[in-house]
Amino acid sequence: MIDAKIPEGNLADKWSNYKDSSKLINPANRKKLDIIVVGTGLAGSSCAATLAEQGYNIKSFCFQDSARRAHSVAAQGGVNAAKNYKNDGDSVYRMFYDTIKGGDFRSREANVYRLAECSLALIDQAVAQGVPFAREYGGYLNNRSFGGVQVSRTFYARGQTGQQLMIGAYQALMRQVSAGKVKTYTRHEMLDLVMVDGKARGIIARNLETGEIERHSANAVVLATGGYGKVYYLSTLAMGCNTSAIWRAHKKGALMSGVSWIQFHPTCLPQIGETQSKLTLMSESLRNDGRIWVPKKAGDDRVLNDIPEEERDYYLERRYPTFGNLSPRDISSRAAKERIDAGCGVGPMKNAVCLDFSKAIKEQGLTKIEEKYGNLFRMYDKINGVDAYKEPMLISPAAHFTMGGLWVDYNLMTTIPGLFALGEANFSDHGANRLGANSLLQSCVDGYFIAPYTIPNYLSGELKAEKVTTDHPAFAEAEKVVREQLERFLNLKGRFSADHFHKTLGKLLYDKCGLSRTKESLEQAIVEIKALKKSFDHELKITGDEQVNSELEKAGRVSDFLELGELMCYDALQREESCGAHFREEYQTADGEAVRNDEDFCYVSAWEWKGEGKQPELHKEPLVFDTVKLSVRSYK
Ligand SMILES: Cc1cc2nc3c(=O)[nH]c(=O)nc-3n(C[C@H](O)[C@H](O)[C@H](O)COP(=O)(O)OP(=O)(O)OC[C@H]3O[C@@H](n4cnc5c(N)ncnc54)[C@H](O)[C@@H]3O)c2cc1C
Repeated sequence: MIDAKIPEGNLADKWSNYKDSSKLINPANRKKLDIIVVGTGLAGSSCAATLAEQGYNIKSFCFQDSARRAHSVAAQGGVNAAKNYKNDGDSVYRMFYDTIKGGDFRSREANVYRLAECSLALIDQAVAQGVPFAREYGGYLNNRSFGGVQVSRTFYARGQTGQQLMIGAYQALMRQVSAGKVKTYTRHEMLDLVMVDGKARGIIARNLETGEIERHSANAVVLATGGYGKVYYLSTLAMGCNTSAIWRAHKKGALMSGVSWIQFHPTCLPQIGETQSKLTLMSESLRNDGRIWVPKKAGDDRVLNDIPEEERDYYLERRYPTFGNLSPRDISSRAAKERIDAGCGVGPMKNAVCLDFSKAIKEQGLTKIEEKYGNLFRMYDKINGVDAYKEPMLISPAAHFTMGGLWVDYNLMTTIPGLFALGEANFSDHGANRLGANSLLQSCVDGYFIAPYTIPNYLSGELKAEKVTTDHPAFAEAEKVVREQLERFLNLKGRFSADHFHKTLGKLLYDKCGLSRTKESLEQAIVEIKALKKSFDHELKITGDEQVNSELEKAGRVSDFLELGELMCYDALQREESCGAHFREEYQTADGEAVRNDEDFCYVSAWEWKGEGKQPELHKEPLVFDTVKLSVRSYK
């Protein structure tokens, strides 16, 4: 049985107790310790900067050309904190409860409570860094609501919250670069983890500008490499996002959890053609004022503004009157799919629903709506050439966020000693469904507040360990494996590009392991993914050579996506219940709501890699609820 190492004591005291009793390292000794942080998003930058500030030597890696361009910049809507500035009944406990319930009771109480507790300090930290959160007339920080809650706890900087938080984290990182405590390796891709005596002691990275393979050693390795939603090809993530760092750590022994819990965001721009490589997110904040509807009649082809009020189906308000348009993402996305599948979808491909601001404009005035969402309306207009102040936006669910990732204990350490996973790369806090604006929070608190305690706690036991250098045979062995894989890709000379396999995999996963799944669809998917992988191994074509070569980069990423996709299907197949974003059609009520099975599935699934072509092995971490009572998650 795997041990989450949750501290003893009352829920509210666990984190304080942990901090009070965690081991410290004296400042003179910190200078002797090296830490590799892969990833410069909010989780990676904040962790690298904070550990460097403490005196450790940090090597920071990212594949973008600047640390500041990590994917966290894309986040629009906001970041949650239980500050209760609105005096509307919020508290740490309420935020904890909303998050546990939002995740459909499939996350750890202790982690979630710590997330809510640390949210308070995060806002102060960000404000001190100069993050320009929206303010009210009197100067206080403003808040709005996101799905799945009835209070306003989302802090935001217009539609650029991720970017503004990133500027804060980046400047903290650069301060340490100037101080000589952080060395950045941009345009570097980690291709393998190096282990010595069962512990993480370094990485193999490829310099994407020269093609050179490099060895880097350290006393601990942190993976803050983001989410793997791009496995679906079409998603709200940029093309470069991938799973390779965590997947290769998985193949070295780190367990993966919640792998098939994928969040489909309900407010994305619909697909409009076959050659698209990305879907654009319209922030969930729009659901504060936008009303979602489809025509009541299937196949209604009228101009949307001509459809009278009584012939519109505001299906979220109808099905979930308490939360209405702010129902959580999993529920809203499934409800949209249900209407689209019923033939009521709108738009050229009939794959969208309406997000309508006419009532809000009538009630609050155009200026107010412009003030709140102006940049999002402009973005919509730029992409679609449609003025959404005058006609409804068209939106559709798209793959967005991955609740799954590397299994970590309360220390954020994986099952490999010395290997930590932070931010979206780990599975830890969101359960089977993430509430909006909780991810920026998790990435930031993992990096600024949690790992800077837990990593030194681990390193204190490593002070006497032998120094490992890159001459160690484990580095030579890992480098050899990486080189062989790159050579194999280049030598294949097949017929199809990496993109071809990626697209095929993405479509297959959307259809068979997407918004809803069945035993049959998952079994079929496993067979088809195995066949696709076989074809990839023979039919891949890479143009160019081993130097600067984006096709070669893609090949490695797609190879990992294929293996991950298979694991996602095993994970979804094994979990014979519906919970959060995991909707197994066999387990639903007569009116289409998810049916959870607490008796048999109240645990975290943690999968072990058993080798190529072999079925993964399941380990279980039972979920114990001492504080909340498990209940049917209802937003009606
Ligand atoms: C469009 C969009 C909007 C969103 N809006 C919100 C929002 O409003 N609120 C909210 O809470 N959440 C939001 N999210 C989710 C949130 O932005 C992410 O979950 C979060 O920012 C992830 O941060 P991270 O630090 O874990 O990873 P990222 O910011 O994705 O950073 C990953 C880093 O890892 C590096 N990396 C990855 N693999 C390798 C490798 N092999 N070698 C070297 N480097 C590697 C990358 O270069 C990058 O630096 C949004 C997500 C998207 C896609």
